[in-house]
Amino acid sequence: MLTEQAKKELERQHYRVVGEHSAVKVCGWTKKMIRGEGGCYKLKFYGIMSHQCLQGTSSISCANRCTFCWRGYKAPVSKEWKWGVDDPEFIIDESVKAHHDLLVGYGGYEKLNKKIYEESKTVKHVALSLTGEPIMYPRFNELIKGFHNKGISTFVVTNGQYPEAIETLEPVTQLYISMDSPNKENMRVVDKPLFPDYWDRFLRSLDAMKQKKFRTTVRLTLIKGINMIEPESYAKLLGRADPDFIEIKAYMWVGESRERLKKENMPFYEDVHAFAQDLKAVLPEYELVTDHKPSRVVLLAKKKFKKSDGWYTWIDFEKFFTLLQEGKEIIAEEFTKRTPQQTMPKIDEATPEIEFWQED
Ligand code: SF4
Repeated sequence: MLTEQAKKELERQHYRVVGEHSAVKVCGWTKKMIRGEGGCYKLKFYGIMSHQCLQGTSSISCANRCTFCWRGYKAPVSKEWKWGVDDPEFIIDESVKAHHDLLVGYGGYEKLNKKIYEESKTVKHVALSLTGEPIMYPRFNELIKGFHNKGISTFVVTNGQYPEAIETLEPVTQLYISMDSPNKENMRVVDKPLFPDYWDRFLRSLDAMKQKKFRTTVRLTLIKGINMIEPESYAKLLGRADPDFIEIKAYMWVGESRERLKKENMPFYEDVHAFAQDLKAVLPEYELVTDHKPSRVVLLAKKKFKKSDGWYTWIDFEKFFTLLQEGKEIIAEEFTKRTPQQTMPKIDEATPEIEFWQED
């Protein structure tokens, strides 16, 4: 899939290419957690232990050229799979190995949290999203099962250009669809899709998501001045997918996206909140749960995840694996845990100036 030069370029950016078409890269939040500086927003929202999370993809290639993506426009794109197909077990084993190799240097870090570092040697979660379109990989379901057999939970992010892969998808721990635009024309500008029928594919993917009983999320990446428009149109699309959770997140001005967008396109935390409120106003089935300021992201959840003592958006991973082992149907409400931090967001404070990096 990659030329030697493209591979070298990715390695220069601290990726490790695995086999012919997969890759891993240590997430900035994994490193932060090992340094004892806190975890990612998925820790706060869902209980993902950031130090035990592997960030990877099973396909570096993608069928879009999203303007906000940190990938360069030289990264491989294709509508069809036209490469060899690596074995799922090989991808899992080599990805875990590469992830650990990349983390080895952290053992000597002076501010290291030793307990956390030791725990980081056991991968418990995989976020399949890093770069490209992971679901394109022809043996994706086998890959998912392989991760689950090893006790590794699966977060899968897709841009909705392969509806048939979503229709036939085996249960994952949490499925994401990226919703980057409220209408067809805006999506053409924002995502620069290769498929001429990109909008129909996207709509079919939303319909496929609606059929899933396991945990589903739609993520909006807000780009100021470009797609922060038409909350009613977003609401209509969201109704079609009927996700359990909606993440409303700021575009981050990182990587090669800086050549296509300006820093001013990155919404402030307050802008994200304002848009989340606009959306909530037209989505009566959802409520605002909490947010994560450093990532400028707000979580909306379906009211069914709220009990008398508060929100239950965390994942009971033990229960999830038990249900899988027993061959039971994976139903979102059956493996939840109480969300520990249910603080209502404070939006009157200034957005902190922090280091930004790519995060799935
Ligand atoms: S890859 Fe995603 S889920 Fe994993 S630590 Fe990073 S931000 Fe969190």
